Order: sequence, then C-alpha cells, then structure tokens
Amino acid sequence: MKNKELKILLSAPRGFCAGVERAIEIVEKSIQKYGTPVYVRHEIVHNKFVVDDLKNKGAIFVEELKEIEDKSRPVIFSAHGVPKKVPDEAINYKMTYVDATCPLVSKVHREAENLHKAGFHTILIGHQNHPEVIGTMGQLPTGTIELIQNEDEAKKFKNKKDKKIAFVTQTTLSVDDTKEIIKILKNKFPNIREPLKEDICYATTNRQMAVKEIANKCDMFFVIGSRNSSNSVRLVEVAKKSGCPKAQLIHSQSEIPYEEIESSNIIGISSGASAPEILVENFINDLKNRFTVSIDEVEIIKEKVVFKIPKKLN
Ligand code: SF4
Repeated sequence: MKNKELKILLSAPRGFCAGVERAIEIVEKSIQKYGTPVYVRHEIVHNKFVVDDLKNKGAIFVEELKEIEDKSRPVIFSAHGVPKKVPDEAINYKMTYVDATCPLVSKVHREAENLHKAGFHTILIGHQNHPEVIGTMGQLPTGTIELIQNEDEAKKFKNKKDKKIAFVTQTTLSVDDTKEIIKILKNKFPNIREPLKEDICYATTNRQMAVKEIANKCDMFFVIGSRNSSNSVRLVEVAKKSGCPKAQLIHSQSEIPYEEIESSNIIGISSGASAPEILVENFINDLKNRFTVSIDEVEIIKEKVVFKIPKKLN
C-alpha cells in the first residue's frame, strides 16, 4: 500500500481557538495555585484527550456542584458558560470558583441581559441542551428568552409576548444555516434587534471558511473532534454542503476508514476548536505509515486572538 500516493489538503486555521487555550490554561494555573484536586464543572472543552490529560494533572470533572464531595476545593466553570444560578450556588456553598467561560460567550450573555433590561423579548438561535445554550438561557428569567433551532421553528415562531423582539445566537453555529434563520426572522419582524457584532465567533467562522475553500477538491474529508463538540460537527456539515459528501468526524483512531481512504486521491483534514493538534499529527502519521503522503496546507487567514486569564490566577 505504501506506494499508493495520497494528497492531504490541510485546512487552516483549525484546532484550538483562543477560548479553548484560555480555558485549559485556567485549569492548569488553578492546579498550580490551589494544588489538587480542583473540580471542573462539565468537560472544560468538549474533547476527551484534553479532559483525560487534565484528569491526570489533578482535575476532577463533575456535572453539578452538588456532586462535589470536598467543597473546600475550588471549582472551575467550563468554556461554554453557565447559567447565573451556578455562581450563586457556588457562593452559597462558600466555594472558590474560577470562571473559564470564553469571553465571546460572556459577550452573548451580556447582550442577552442588556436586551432584557431594555424591554426586549429575546430569541436565542442555537441547539437545545448544548451547555452554551443552557448557560445563555440561564442569564435571563425563565420565559423571557426562547430557543429557535432551525428554519422551521423560525417560520412558526410567534411573538406572543407582544414586546419588542431581539435575537442572539450560540457562538458555534453554521454561519450559512444561521443566515437563513435570521433572514426568516427579519422578514417576519423587520424591526427585530440584532447583535451589533455577530455572535458566531471568529474561530467558528474561520474554520468553516477554511473547510469551504478546499472541500470540493477532496474525495474524502475528515474533521478531528468529539461528537459532542458543536463546532466540529458543524465543520463536517460544511464540508458536505461545500462539495465533499464523504465527510466525517474522527472521534477516535478506531474510526479511520483506511480502506476507503485507499481508493481516494485527495483527502481534506480539519479539526474542531477543542481538538489538540497532536490528534491531527497522529492521524497524519498513521496515514504516512500506510501511504506515500504529500501535504498541502491551505491557510485562509492568520489568527492572532489571545484572551487573558483571570487576574486571580496570575
Ligand atoms: S469556539 Fe469561539 S466561543 Fe467557543 S471557546 Fe472558541 S473562541 Fe470561544
């Protein structure tokens, strides 16, 4: 098989975004500052490799604060953000907490809050049960923010509250699908208030644009990322819609379809914002062991975004 030639188009930017880098650094710095264990509420970012690595360093992952046995230990909130009641709960338990919510998610939280204060009924465009959606909805009193997940729901939406309406969005949605949903809402409610600056974050947008650039040149497309990683799943959808129907998520090495790859000449590779580059490198090394590989990295934009960690960890 080694004489089978395989070209890889490597999508860039890919992998870690500034929010994920910051969240991981927050856990590591918390361990340095407070010792072990530190608790983390929910997977700090949606990637098993990252979570396992932090577990080895002394982090314990829980879904709710009530599960924490030793409440004298600090707890970190994940990059996806938390409903307002969670920091309140930590205060009630007299726990030290560090908030690793991505600043771009916090921006959406503040937007939703300000809209509520200004008397708007708010629509959140996003996916039900995703922790970011739970966190954003949890910034406002129940019933004052409503979720719309797709075009169909946008068409059916009725402004029952008889209030001015506005929308915000999850940060990791498909740019194109969201545009369609917004178009429907704007047609129905020409005065709907929209965010001043788009809520879908720079990292989601750039990774999708980069995949779009190369997908139609590829026989197969692989996105390294976890199944519960919204932005990774969106990248697979984007690759499919942009001309590569054989696009799939690689969640673990056992999922790599070597036989199908053997009948391909060009494959595309990207990775979600929570997937470390080592997983891309491992995948490429596996391919190099089987095929004669050439790599062409296609970079559409350089990212320079960096977020500071909370002062209390400096
Ligand atoms: S994907 Fe975007 S919103 Fe989510 S952590 Fe990264 S930069 Fe922040």
